[in-house]
Amino acid sequence: MNYDTYGSTAVELAIDLANAALDDPAGVADFLAGHDEWFTDGTTLELSPAEATAVARTSTLVREVALADSEPVVKERLNALLDLAAPHPYATDHDGELHLHYARPDAGVVEQLTTTVAMGLSQVVVQHGWRRLGVCSAEGCDDVYVDTSRNASRRYCSNTCASRSTVAAYRARQRT
Ligand SMILES: [Zn+2]
Ligand SMILES: [Zn+2]
Repeated sequence: MNYDTYGSTAVELAIDLANAALDDPAGVADFLAGHDEWFTDGTTLELSPAEATAVARTSTLVREVALADSEPVVKERLNALLDLAAPHPYATDHDGELHLHYARPDAGVVEQLTTTVAMGLSQVVVQHGWRRLGVCSAEGCDDVYVDTSRNASRRYCSNTCASRSTVAAYRARQRT
């Protein structure tokens, strides 16, 4: 996938967050530890129960944006997510390439996460259309995805789900 034309890789973080298992604080801690490259050096990843709930809420809001099936609903849900953001953009070249960060570098992890996810997701939606977001068509999978294919033809969250569905369709044809 090529995100260059999408302006931001932050949408990838949003999708990961929406698909993460965050039902308990341990799940939230795992998610943050697995995505610590998104947070400023020195940001503490230890959360209070209320903060863990806030992360799970952000995840739910991202998922709701992806599941919305009309522009008015997308707009409403996107704005609910953006309400939680506290953007303070700045330019940085910490990884060798000049790019924007959306959250204050000294903000807590929840503010950094929510702001980055809200800004990244809304940027993709306004630049490329809400139809770029979807939910996996594979049976038994409800992961959301962002479609960065040229012709916006994506239906599955991953190659794994795509090939699993192809095999299932083939077997169904064999049976009939
Ligand atoms: Zn960066
Ligand atoms: Zn899937």
